[in-house]
Amino acid sequence: MILTTRPTDPLRSLQTGNWFKLICGASSQHIPTIRSCAIAYAIAGADCIDLAADPAIIIAVKDAIVSIQTHYPNVNPWLMVSLNDGEDPHFRKAEFDPNHCPSDCDRPCEKVCPTNAIQFSSKSSGVIDELCYGCGRCLPICPIQSIQARSYVYKPEIIVPTVLDLGIDAIEIHTQIGRSADFATLWQTLKPHLHHLKLIAVSCPDGPGMVEYLQALNQIISPSGLPCAFIWQTDGRPMSGDIGDGATRACIKLGQKVLALGLPGFVQLAGGTNDHTVEKLTQLGLFPPQPQTRHLAGIAYGSYARSQLQSVLTELEQRSSNQLEQHPDLLEESVKIATNLIAPLKSYSSKNLLTST
Ligand code: SF4
Ligand code: SF4
Repeated sequence: MILTTRPTDPLRSLQTGNWFKLICGASSQHIPTIRSCAIAYAIAGADCIDLAADPAIIIAVKDAIVSIQTHYPNVNPWLMVSLNDGEDPHFRKAEFDPNHCPSDCDRPCEKVCPTNAIQFSSKSSGVIDELCYGCGRCLPICPIQSIQARSYVYKPEIIVPTVLDLGIDAIEIHTQIGRSADFATLWQTLKPHLHHLKLIAVSCPDGPGMVEYLQALNQIISPSGLPCAFIWQTDGRPMSGDIGDGATRACIKLGQKVLALGLPGFVQLAGGTNDHTVEKLTQLGLFPPQPQTRHLAGIAYGSYARSQLQSVLTELEQRSSNQLEQHPDLLEESVKIATNLIAPLKSYSSKNLLTST
């Protein structure tokens, strides 16, 4: 029908430094959007799709992958879910009472929201919960400070067996500097399940004490003794890739810092990634990876990847459909958009570049 695809081989992509992960968002629960993004980026060659630990979302994406395998049998990305060991911006939702809004407010909250989660209509007003992914951009912009963040923490003892039963391949733990006790507790709960996984990842933002913190986590995890692959996700500027060029600098800087620590495991960029990221890595001599040198394993794209598909998502909604694969014109357009983001990472020759970690 459209475009040929390469077989998905996530582990090899990690080893050869061209791993691509699509982050749908730990708090993002709008199934039509997630499903369409997953289809477009999976066909375009994504190695992994990172989802909220919500059974309805996992089932919807698994069904979507099965449905496209009829035409694209090589497409088989790993599915990942994220957990947190405490309060974390990835695990929150915005909320406010629209009845408290002054009638003359020009609604800057509505304009700043990248996912149209804030709406004012006769049907509903306020934050559409499943569209909010917790980016926080609306929180400081309200002139009467009416918008609040509602945080949540998953209970791993309940959610982990559930997501494993649904066939999840990978789990990511979002942590923050200074939480080693909370992390260790979560790790103990996860440990008996690790042999069911292909990958475990730890995501941490930068800050004072980051080096010591990752070293402490390294002691708890012992990545080289794990029964699965392991990633340090460097969360440069969380959920900011769609803001612009500058967002990618912080993310690359943190990636370089973590790579220099020499900890066992793969190192993968996130938080601020966009279409400038590969170009900047290339300018810095960090991409493409060189044989015999420790290199970045790949890049995760979240808000930027989603924003690129917004026109397709809007058109699909106008057609009152959530089945992207049933609209050949939109499917083709969305795969082309996704390929534009993935191709710079995937298109170099990776022969002879297999690293062990
Ligand atoms: S701006 Fe961000 S935090 Fe606020 S409603 Fe939109 S997605 Fe949620
Ligand atoms: S900016 Fe604040 S007051 Fe204005 S519409 Fe949004 S939530 Fe209401």
